[in-house]
Amino acid sequence: NSQLNQSYTFDNYIEGDCNRLARSAGYAVANKPGTTSFNPLMVYGGVGLGKTHLVQAIGNHIKSNNPDKFVLYVSSEKFVNQFIESLKTNSVQDFANFYLLVDILIIDDVQFLSGKEKTQEMFFHIFNHLHQSGKQIVMTSDCPPRDLKGLEERLLSRFKWGLTADLQSPDFETRMAIIYKKMQSDGIHIPDNVIEYLAYSVDTNVRELEGVLISLIAQSSLNRKEIDLELAKAALKHIIEDVETEVNLDFIQKTVAEYFDVTLESLKAKTRKKEIVTARQVAMYFAKEYTSHSLKSIGYHFGGRDHSTVIHSVQTVSDLIDTDKKFKASIQELQKKFKVKAG
Ligand code: ADP
Ligand code: MG
Repeated sequence: NSQLNQSYTFDNYIEGDCNRLARSAGYAVANKPGTTSFNPLMVYGGVGLGKTHLVQAIGNHIKSNNPDKFVLYVSSEKFVNQFIESLKTNSVQDFANFYLLVDILIIDDVQFLSGKEKTQEMFFHIFNHLHQSGKQIVMTSDCPPRDLKGLEERLLSRFKWGLTADLQSPDFETRMAIIYKKMQSDGIHIPDNVIEYLAYSVDTNVRELEGVLISLIAQSSLNRKEIDLELAKAALKHIIEDVETEVNLDFIQKTVAEYFDVTLESLKAKTRKKEIVTARQVAMYFAKEYTSHSLKSIGYHFGGRDHSTVIHSVQTVSDLIDTDKKFKASIQELQKKFKVKAG
């Protein structure tokens, strides 16, 4: 039993700027497992961005082309639990032997191996054996390998042997496309203005977008009402509190970049030019004030910075507001733009 969920395919995995590299690398691996230089393939990104879907799609694709290959999908949590169980029952060798037979090993959420030294040792052994035998290894993680705390260096260095590709939050067009696709596959109709409204409002991740859609469909059938904007607003309120007053991250970044006359890209880039740093800190400050994104998520959307950078930025901006009158005035001016928008 491969533990694959057949509903996750490449066909229903919408491609967008946010996932292009990961998707095409995944597709290459799915067509030539073990023989591309993408071994291991490591896909990382925040929750609900499509890691599990993508790696399951790889597994399903390989399985359908090569029915006799032993494709195995396992969550890291399950891997750890199985290993602990094998220690208890004195069957570690059986555990190892099972994994050494696998042709394609897909291991999800490897950040879960953090701090579990014995399990990592076992995984290291399995990894080496499979890799040497030309077997494909596919992994996911919630952050880039360099940020995986509590994982042994020798394991991390192997993770970088192949290709590491990230998944970003879906952009507006991709969110529209995802809603269209779900609408078609569920055989329901959603008016264009509702699709646009949802794609605009739910900008965090695909799982949340799906959650809102499910709730919307449920409310429509419960109330025997056609899906319209009013119902969509109600469904959204149900799922995400105070979304009505929420200004989204894209809007904040665009507005602040425009105001400081810097490019949108520079806010996400590494540059430390003073005027860009200020604009970036201000945008982070508003993201914290006006959206429900976590510090981690905000950092991620500003070129993959960590949450402590966000904290520092928010603090710096607050200090400047207190000490610099001119700066305070610009913040107030920006604030107006967001307040108007939030209505
Ligand atoms: P993760 O493992 O990164 O937390 P999942 O793979 O579980 O995220 O994705 C969450 C939900 O969003 C799943 O139902 C998945 O099918 C859907 N999803 C994610 N990305 C896409 C995409 N690009 N196209 C279509 N559906 C997607
Ligand atoms: Mg997952």
